[in-house]
Amino acid sequence: MADEHTHDNEHDHEHTHDHEHGHEHDHDHEELSEEERKRLEEAQADAMRRRALSQIRQYPDVALRMKAREVTEFDESLVQLVERMQILMRDAQGVGLAATQLGILQRVFVFDPEEHGLQALVNPVLSNASDEKETDEEGCLSLPEVRVPVERSVRVVVEGKDPSGKDVRLELEGLSARIVQHETDHLDGVLFIDRLDRETRKAAMRAIRSDHGPVAFTTRSARSSCSVSVT
Ligand SMILES: [Zn+2]
Repeated sequence: MADEHTHDNEHDHEHTHDHEHGHEHDHDHEELSEEERKRLEEAQADAMRRRALSQIRQYPDVALRMKAREVTEFDESLVQLVERMQILMRDAQGVGLAATQLGILQRVFVFDPEEHGLQALVNPVLSNASDEKETDEEGCLSLPEVRVPVERSVRVVVEGKDPSGKDVRLELEGLSARIVQHETDHLDGVLFIDRLDRETRKAAMRAIRSDHGPVAFTTRSARSSCSVSVT
């Protein structure tokens, strides 16, 4: 799942300048203005995001339609998979990522609900989904050019294991509940665009097929539209 997260990366910028002959004044070129520094950081975050997205299966990749299998081995390779997924999710500026999005058909997803910290769930099962629903904008790292309103249960319980095989049970609400519903769908080959009503879905499909970006609804931002053309 995609979101507008930005990251406070530390960047050291070293610049050397060839001074022109005959120059009388020695300007302080080493200091970037606040605006220049921000632009540079954004460009670096953008490059990082494009790199991460290039490793994430993009719609209509067939892997996104496959059902993942239960994990039976809680071994080192599972831990490594989870670590790789967490790094990709962070670099891609997402708040959730399922293994199927990497073409790995195992029931694993990572997500980053602000109130609970970074989580990895193995063999997740949803229950107690509230009848109360909420419609909010959703994005997906496998369809980064689309953000559309999707109806989800406001509250849900997710149970499963952590990567070491320990039981996990989380009672979630709001954005966290939305993310685990989105990611669990991924493990069953279901995408958020499948959850749309006919009209919104048609508009979304038009936007996906269009070379000119989203048509009928909000884009993530000018910045992410740019990154899409590169991936
Ligand atoms: Zn997604």
